Amino acid sequence: MATPLDFHVHPSTSEYLEGSLGPYLEQLRHHFRLPIPIRTLEEMAADFEGLRAVLLAWDAETGTGRPPVTNDWVADVCRRWPDRFIPFASVDPWKGERAIAEARRAVRELGMRGFKFQQAAMAFRPSDERFFPLWEEIAGLGVPCLFHVGTTGLGAGLPGGGGIQLDYVRPIHLDAVAAAFPNLTLVCAHPAYPWQQEMIAIANHKANVYVDLSGWAPRYFPPELVRELSRGLQDKALFGTDYPFIEPRRWLREFEQIELRDEVRDKILWGNAERVLGLAGC
Ligand SMILES: [Zn+2]
Repeated sequence: MATPLDFHVHPSTSEYLEGSLGPYLEQLRHHFRLPIPIRTLEEMAADFEGLRAVLLAWDAETGTGRPPVTNDWVADVCRRWPDRFIPFASVDPWKGERAIAEARRAVRELGMRGFKFQQAAMAFRPSDERFFPLWEEIAGLGVPCLFHVGTTGLGAGLPGGGGIQLDYVRPIHLDAVAAAFPNLTLVCAHPAYPWQQEMIAIANHKANVYVDLSGWAPRYFPPELVRELSRGLQDKALFGTDYPFIEPRRWLREFEQIELRDEVRDKILWGNAERVLGLAGC
């Protein structure tokens, strides 16, 4: 049996939780009603024993004013646990030419395997043509982009949502990117509440669009999403947790309860992810 591959993992160490999230951490603990403890690197690695995981850098400096989880830091952690963690880079799209140069460096020099964007935190609309040179660069590098879709816990419950706008995370803005860059693979993270049907339509329409199932405990998946997992999305959906907000053991336990054929379950747990990452022969 192959090893499940969690496509969506944030560091549970202080670099992300206290550094990049900073003041949002208390608000997220309150919103998710979770303690979200700060872990050491070793504790984080232990949480993924027997699994593989895409570990995400984070640079939303322009949008949040908070320091990044750097690509160098993520690449270093992944070198320590090469069988467990797969590095995904982050660049702040508002950094323009510097973002493009950093994207190239992250893949060519640090060996990173893809990019993560959180449009609400980064305060940008991916369909805005000012960002097209970045998508062109990443398409040329031949690695996938992971984008947040659907509402976000960031700023939830604060006056004005902490200044965070939900329009940025509508799936339809990614449809335009997928159409303009058919060679760029887009993975859209999370059940896309309240635009789930819009997301399913896009994933079924565009061969280069995938979805990850992170950020929601599987027992709360909307019925239209569950129905699609054994239909159009069986070759498009990827296991993902959004750790440390959801623990991988809990996600896997609840996913077992969803009725799926074994071959479909295997595709979602690792087959589709291996194809997206180009891990042939794994
Ligand atoms: Zn996330």
